[in-house]
Amino acid sequence: MYDYDLLVIGAGPGGQTAALRAARLGKKVAVAEAREPGGTCVNRGCVSTKTLLHSSSLYRAAAEGAAVGVHAQGLRADLGEIFQNKRRVAQTLSQGVETMFKSAKIALLRGRATILAPHRARVAGPEGECEVTAEAILVAAGAAPMRLPLPGMDLPGVLTSEELLEGVDHLYRSLVIIGGGVIGIEFACFFSDLGCEVTVLEGLDRLLPMLDRELGQNLALILKKKGVRVCTGALVERAEQTDGGLRVHFTVKGKPDFAEGEAVLCAVGRRAAWEGIFAPGLQPELDGRILKVNERFETSIPGIFAIGDVASQTQLAHVAAAQGQAFAELLCGQESRVGMDIVPSCVYCRPEIAVVGLTDGEAKARGIPVKTGKCVLGGNARTLIEDPGRSFMKVLAHAETGQILGAQLMCLGAPDMISQISEAIANHLTPRQLLLAMRPHPTFEEALSEALEDLANKLEK
Ligand code: NAD
Repeated sequence: MYDYDLLVIGAGPGGQTAALRAARLGKKVAVAEAREPGGTCVNRGCVSTKTLLHSSSLYRAAAEGAAVGVHAQGLRADLGEIFQNKRRVAQTLSQGVETMFKSAKIALLRGRATILAPHRARVAGPEGECEVTAEAILVAAGAAPMRLPLPGMDLPGVLTSEELLEGVDHLYRSLVIIGGGVIGIEFACFFSDLGCEVTVLEGLDRLLPMLDRELGQNLALILKKKGVRVCTGALVERAEQTDGGLRVHFTVKGKPDFAEGEAVLCAVGRRAAWEGIFAPGLQPELDGRILKVNERFETSIPGIFAIGDVASQTQLAHVAAAQGQAFAELLCGQESRVGMDIVPSCVYCRPEIAVVGLTDGEAKARGIPVKTGKCVLGGNARTLIEDPGRSFMKVLAHAETGQILGAQLMCLGAPDMISQISEAIANHLTPRQLLLAMRPHPTFEEALSEALEDLANKLEK
């Protein structure tokens, strides 16, 4: 007889979804959490950065308001208050998770869990240590930022996103960001909107190199126009302390260069955080740097399961949550209907980016014949009014069947529009079927009708 049917390690989006779903399906559940409920997403990731971006976009809108007849005097960004607001939002959501656990009768064990053996774990926290047994243990411990193993990366002022999110008391004069991926770009937007001099150093040939080429290239143009220095193909070598701050040395095509900042943000990816969770002698199999799991999310150790960033190549909160739900349903003997193969992804720069499915390049690489419909939003009324910079939408479909296979949107509101395309992919719809419904005027998504019309015409040629 075990204390619990399920012990979940980690109360982020994956762990909390798994716990709530399993409890709803009748399981006795405990969740061990070493920090605040809500995990990285709420406390040190998605929600925190979006809260900061809300403040910086208000500041930018006010600073640029004179162009539309709104004159702000004495405009001032108080970094202490901005970060205090971020903490307030995170605390509200974190407390919400605790409340949901309480009403679902899920035990929240505060402390760091170590799996001692299958079905047995120790939780060590501020209130002491306890051992718990559970029929199943789910590792949903997330990921932590990586640091570059280069000289100077341990200097004071060289920060990871988690360290930066703890808060700064003044606006940096200048910031060097290593890594032009999602985290690097969102911080570049936050700091540059507030008037900080930002340099982005990206090792590959474009920003957001994991996305469609045109997105990264368009973003670089927009950021440069805002005064951000963007260096791509930048091989970082070291950082050093100077009188005024930090200097990062890098080369581009073999040519040495440097960038200076009051601080340096290292945003070069996140590493699965499973280390320290398994007691010595308990060695789960790995798949590269993540835990290897089967189709039921079970690791190589029977009875121990893993979801989210510890076991997934795609580090996204909604992927972790979907896996959490699927895991719980499978654990409870249900057939899970959660779709895992259509994964939207968003970047909260300005204009925003949202993508799902295949890109043109990926389709070509896989030998899938596709046609692409496109709309540049130069004539879209809402875009003209809000003037976020060059915006576009691309939708692609199978050249023979006409079924929609993917989309790349870079425009205001993109994250709230992408699910139309996800649903089209899931239901094998064609552009003509998506065009059956009218879109309201004036909206950003009117441009989606234009991209779909362009695609439909190309397919019908
Ligand atoms: P990332 O993998 O998105 O980007 C890291 C970038 O750093 C890459 O472009 C890479 O080429 C570059 N890089 C690596 N080493 C470098 C070096 N030595 N010099 C210069 N550039 C270098 O990682 P991230 O931005 O740290 O984000 C981590 C994870 O969190 C990602 O999977 C991301 O999708 C996820 N995330 C998602 C969101 C969102 O959905 N809005 C927001 C934040 C983070």
